[in-house]
Amino acid sequence: MLEVRGLSTAYQGLLAIQGVSIEVDSGEIVVVAGANGAGKSTLLKSIAGMERPRSGEVVFDGARIDGLPGHAITAKGIAYVPENKRLFPRLSVADNLRLGSYLHRRAADREAPLERVFSLFPRLKERLPQRAGTLSGGEQQMLAIGRALMTRPRLLMLDEPSQGIMPKLVDEIFSAVEAIRASGTTILLVEQRLAESLSIADRAYVLQTGRLMLTGPAATLRDDPEVRRAYLGI
Ligand code: ATP
Repeated sequence: MLEVRGLSTAYQGLLAIQGVSIEVDSGEIVVVAGANGAGKSTLLKSIAGMERPRSGEVVFDGARIDGLPGHAITAKGIAYVPENKRLFPRLSVADNLRLGSYLHRRAADREAPLERVFSLFPRLKERLPQRAGTLSGGEQQMLAIGRALMTRPRLLMLDEPSQGIMPKLVDEIFSAVEAIRASGTTILLVEQRLAESLSIADRAYVLQTGRLMLTGPAATLRDDPEVRRAYLGI
């Protein structure tokens, strides 16, 4: 479904990712892990059209998408939830969701994803009139994911959805990610919480200072003594 080949992206001449190649197959949950500054967010931004890669290719469903603007990539079926979520804090939950569905002009096309969002995150339905800025951190993350789902993506890319969220809600977010995949959306997940993300993922890639260090099936990485020592603290 998604093929990233030899992607390099630089900021002010400094390479943040270098020759990174990853693949995501339809129906998978794929995790990109790595320490702070490893280049995880840069990789997602480069796929989403928020940063322009210096070299390499991004192929989605057989067609090159690198170099396209973000809205064109969204229209092709890729939704992206950035680390800082970018909600509209003064607008209601309902309006934030509505803004996610701007691609679908027919009301009928907007209703189905809305029902899907409510069944995943019932507490959003309870809070439709509330201003997004007054939601808890976990609820804001649910709203950001919900808004992304309003575009009916085939691939959903999430940047550290568990960051800054209390532990009880972290489980809820990870369960939601599994449920989203079960209902037919492929997931590319950036996470620092490697233990939790390996438990829901099919495969993982580990980045270190902009380069791919390790890759393999989630179960293999979970059992690898070096991964356990270096990344899982076991
Ligand atoms: P974290 O887990 O802390 O979010 P990350 O793995 O997502 O880290 P990136 O945010 O992709 O890492 O950053 C990779 C490198 O690129 C870092 O050295 C960072 O300082 C640098 N970088 C990121 N964004 C910019 C920017 N807009 N301008 C300049 N340098 C940047």
